[in-house]
Amino acid sequence: MATSTPQTVPLLDGGNWRRSNSTNTADVYNPSTGEIIAEVPLCDEAETAAIIESAARALPAWSETPAVERARVMFKFRQLMEDHFDELAALVTREHGKTLPEARAEVQRGLEMVEFACGVPSLLTGETLPNIAASVDAETNRHPVGVCVGITPYNFPSMVPLWMIPVALVCGNTFVLKPSEKVPLSSIRLGELLVAAGLPAGVFNIVHGDKTCVDVLLTHPSVAAISFVGSTAIAKYIYETGTQNAKRVQAAGGAKNHLIIMPDADLEQSVKALAASAYGCAGQRCMAGSVAVAVGEIAEPLVGELCSHASSLTVGPTDGNEGVDVGPLIRREHLDRVSSYIDIASSEGADVALDGRVGDDSFLLGPCVVDRVQPDMRLASEEIFGPVLSVMRANDLESALEIGRNCPYGNGASIFTRDGYAAREFKQHFNAGMIGINVGVPAPMAWFPFTGWNQSFFGDLHLQGSESVHFYTRQKTILTRWFQSADSSHHDPVWKTQR
Ligand code: NAD
Repeated sequence: MATSTPQTVPLLDGGNWRRSNSTNTADVYNPSTGEIIAEVPLCDEAETAAIIESAARALPAWSETPAVERARVMFKFRQLMEDHFDELAALVTREHGKTLPEARAEVQRGLEMVEFACGVPSLLTGETLPNIAASVDAETNRHPVGVCVGITPYNFPSMVPLWMIPVALVCGNTFVLKPSEKVPLSSIRLGELLVAAGLPAGVFNIVHGDKTCVDVLLTHPSVAAISFVGSTAIAKYIYETGTQNAKRVQAAGGAKNHLIIMPDADLEQSVKALAASAYGCAGQRCMAGSVAVAVGEIAEPLVGELCSHASSLTVGPTDGNEGVDVGPLIRREHLDRVSSYIDIASSEGADVALDGRVGDDSFLLGPCVVDRVQPDMRLASEEIFGPVLSVMRANDLESALEIGRNCPYGNGASIFTRDGYAAREFKQHFNAGMIGINVGVPAPMAWFPFTGWNQSFFGDLHLQGSESVHFYTRQKTILTRWFQSADSSHHDPVWKTQR
């Protein structure tokens, strides 16, 4: 239901903000009210290709711009993000529905990626070995890969695009972003700030669309590299199609994250950390705790305290409303899908210890706790992506490690314990790429790579940290030999040795 004429989201094409030619559109909602706040065009093949070509035209000049000058644009962009911090956070809340403190934390994490990118020139230096053979010097240099594409999910409208854009640009690439059609407004605002920071026309571009648009991004000959974040099925498709078309691809997928609570854990601290992990952002985080594994006799008090703490959280609309702990889900269809897992849990014989269903026409779902989930139940293995925490019970740490070994995903996992040996065993052996010890959401910050494993990541080089610099650059190795003017011999010092 629209209460005012929704804005049409523009494209950023070669420095021009313009309206799409497409008549095919999708609605953007305010999940707090259910109101349609914008309409986003779904670009066709020709329009998508035209935007890629704009990025390709801007590449030669930008890639030749000194790295320190490219970084200087990021310093200005960083300041503009600071100046507009509150506005950027409010926009995330408006189009996504997470609480304002959660939106502020998201913008802060994105800002840190910009700060990391400001220092990227120091990571672009090469290596040298003078005299690698007689009178021959060796060196490596890092070059941009070319036109890079980012395809992003709905759950972090600001942070995930910023996992990609700043590093790609400082490395000398030009960029085409296709934000989630559910939350395109934050990307538009970031684009406006990038332009205001002095980025030359065509260096950063925004296209909107669905599979039709994405397929052009995956196959167009001018695209060199693709960064994707989203669900596992699509991540796998992006990786397979992109690599079949000889693109460099990093594709982060979905998750099912485990929180192991040992018998000696600090119960009060653990319960708070579990609830923050499972119910923060209404469970719509790829690092959200999804399965609590209670080891030994802690299970009963844990479930009791968890239900009591979770039911004390305030559930409500977030836009303009600061006293809320758990905001709405992104869409009604997603709410229905997440809620269906409560019925699935009952039908499979699990114990619904806390049912957060609200039962009105909002997109709200309160915290849910499902106890006694067994390994063969759907709640044990499927990504739910909502405020539903399953509890599994294990006799010992080895049984908890076994639950991890059987999980198809491998993003994050945390242990809660006071026992250093158990923590070390867990860190060493749990089948996931990001580990927390008494930390509920072990998401690395900008300076470290986001190292998902198994079906949570397809590719070799991850987002964030120095791996992202390696993803967005290719190395060139150079051997140099200078002749003395009087030297008329033609001895090859590398291939003709004296042996
Ligand atoms: P999604 O996979 O539905 O969409 C992601 C992007 O892919 C969007 O831009 C969308 O337009 C595009 N897309 C959707 N269907 C497509 C298709 N058939 N062909 C080509 N492109 C398509 O994901 P979402 O629902 O927006 O985001 C939530 C998912 O993202 C969850 O699974 C979550 O775990 C995951 N996620 C993962 C990470 C991570 O780092 N591993 C981070 C954030 C989110």
